[in-house]
Amino acid sequence: MKERADQYFGSMVFGYEKMKEYLSKDTYRQLKETIRVGKELNLDIANQVAHAMKEWALSEGATHYCHWFQPMTSITAEKHESFLVPSSEGIALMEFSGKELIKGEPDASSFPSGGLRATFEARGYTAWDPSSYAFIKENTLCIPTAFCSYSGEVLDKKTPLLRSMEVISREAIRILKLFGRSDVKRVVTTVGPEQEYFLVDKDLYLQRKDLIHTGRTLVGARPPKGQELEDHYFGNLKSRVSAFMQELDEELWKLGIFAKTEHNEVAPSQHELAPVFTTSNLAVDQNQLTMEIMKKIANKHGLVCLLHEKPFAGVNGSGKHNNWSISTDTGLNLLEPGDNPKDNAQFLLFLVAVIAAVDEYQDLLRVSVASAGNDHRLGANEAPPAIVSMFLGEELTEILDSLVDGTDYPNKERSSMLLGVNLLPPFPRDTTDRNRTSPFAFTGNKFEFRMLGSSFSVSGPNFVLNTIIAEQLSRFANQLEQAKDFESELSALVKETYSKHRRIVFNGNNYAPEWIDEAKRRGLLNLVSTPEALPTFIHAKNIALFEKFGVLSSSEMHSRYEIVLENYCKTLNIEALTLVDMMRKQVLPALSAFSGALARSFLDKKAAVSSLSLSYEAGLIAELSNLADGLDKEVALLEQQLLEARMVEDISSESYFYHDTVLAQMAQVRSLCDTAELLTDQQYWPIPTYESLLYSV
Ligand code: ADP
Ligand code: MG
Repeated sequence: MKERADQYFGSMVFGYEKMKEYLSKDTYRQLKETIRVGKELNLDIANQVAHAMKEWALSEGATHYCHWFQPMTSITAEKHESFLVPSSEGIALMEFSGKELIKGEPDASSFPSGGLRATFEARGYTAWDPSSYAFIKENTLCIPTAFCSYSGEVLDKKTPLLRSMEVISREAIRILKLFGRSDVKRVVTTVGPEQEYFLVDKDLYLQRKDLIHTGRTLVGARPPKGQELEDHYFGNLKSRVSAFMQELDEELWKLGIFAKTEHNEVAPSQHELAPVFTTSNLAVDQNQLTMEIMKKIANKHGLVCLLHEKPFAGVNGSGKHNNWSISTDTGLNLLEPGDNPKDNAQFLLFLVAVIAAVDEYQDLLRVSVASAGNDHRLGANEAPPAIVSMFLGEELTEILDSLVDGTDYPNKERSSMLLGVNLLPPFPRDTTDRNRTSPFAFTGNKFEFRMLGSSFSVSGPNFVLNTIIAEQLSRFANQLEQAKDFESELSALVKETYSKHRRIVFNGNNYAPEWIDEAKRRGLLNLVSTPEALPTFIHAKNIALFEKFGVLSSSEMHSRYEIVLENYCKTLNIEALTLVDMMRKQVLPALSAFSGALARSFLDKKAAVSSLSLSYEAGLIAELSNLADGLDKEVALLEQQLLEARMVEDISSESYFYHDTVLAQMAQVRSLCDTAELLTDQQYWPIPTYESLLYSV
């Protein structure tokens, strides 16, 4: 019989339970304090913790340890070291010291640094982040770490997130003090990322160079049946998928990841996994692990898990919904409407802080979700558009509107609890209806940021969110701390803030074409592509913000800007090269072979019965040959453009060149190829079709 899930849950994590078991009382207490308030750990304690971790890891069969970190690539990095060391007597010992726990020195020179490397030391170091739990993956004890260059420049995705959490905690505490909540020592942000993905058959996958090299299909005619019947969403799980999900759950549970819901998504072969939310930094680690483990388990089941944002044209792409909230160490969710006037006022203040932040830093939020892959989703007719706006729901919007406009809140009978003379009306909970088209939706007691791509680390969007909201809270605190009459100042502040930023609130259909014009009238940004969005990251106001809070320095921001744009160009370059290769080596030869066979059969038939018209063969030979000629020309042009791309000097112009010229030309090639596919005998078509891929599992 299988072991009960609650019995092995977290068994591969060095969490509080294991710490208690393996550490002395005193060390445990000190470590806990370190984790809670981010205090420095002395080497003596580190030695004891290292020893305990090692003993636990060895008991679970581990042989290696690694510093596990999140460089500016899309995956996590790890360098495995064995615990084994030879003793002077030639006997093997298993060792792991505090020094090895606290600091590692991987060679930083092969990770992206966006120019930081050129000016600073090539070496880098990883530093233990005690606020994330160590865990065992396969035979390795993994120590979550931050990754920096030797001179201290941040080279990873984790560090700015940790810094932003400190910052928002500090500013939120200032606000809470004003509401008489001096008992709160720490405020944490929480994240629950819903993860979408596709599963395809591995044998078919291996026959497609585009999937192998780029994660998405670069060509493929639409199948007769796509997602139009909507018969896949929440449908029965096929047995292979179900076996995959079961094993996935087990592996995630062992790692202490609360995988909660799994279901089919809208597109054929598309699925979703939602975990129970947790503290932001843990959520980042856990989401990275989830993506990694999804791929591994899929492989065991003869499947491939596609995390690309748009693996198939014509059906939905995959995103990641970043559910976000902020709560106190005393267990209070600050985005939960209260049930008394004081709590409501506090809720409203946090709410307008988020509204102001999203409006003022639309560009940063947009940048935080920009990538070549996600460009295929945002603004396409399914995912949220590239315009950042917020959904609050009718009720909450009416309340805020009536506050600002001085009108009565229409739903009078519910306005029973009022605060002072300067009224902050109360409002009901859980009445937020759902608006699936909004990029940033209030869903009762949290916000759901829906623009993230499925392959993203959730770190970027969250350090942006935390910082931009911290900025608003900090301004509020500055103002309210000086207030003579707290209540009237508070009321004025809520009104003023909402009035200034309410243009960002849009409860309508974000997919409607009219919204684009309306958003323009409101002065909202519409940064449709990565090349357009990215430069806003290094605008003076954004650099000033991150520098002010010490989340990122100006040089770190420039480096990130370069890395993301470089990555964009490289991605498109690989895609274009792959497309050229597939056309030259597979599709064009196939078209030639098929039309050649037609021609031979035409000649045979003609020789047999000279009076036959043979218009099918003749017509098709002509059509296919014309398509092949056209395709050949378009591919040659694409090759030419790839050479030109190398000549473009600065990275921003290069990214525009790839977007405006190369990507457009790839579409040209695709269109001819897809037309040819529909005319070609399937026995001659050299790559698995959409039909076979989407219904392969
Ligand atoms: P849905 O959006 O599908 O209706 P839920 O509202 O139940 O689903 O939750 C979606 C995700 O939001 C889950 O991962 C859940 O853990 C997460 N979530 C719920 N509450 C919070 C919170 N306070 N902070 C962050 N994430 C949360
Ligand atoms: Mg959701």
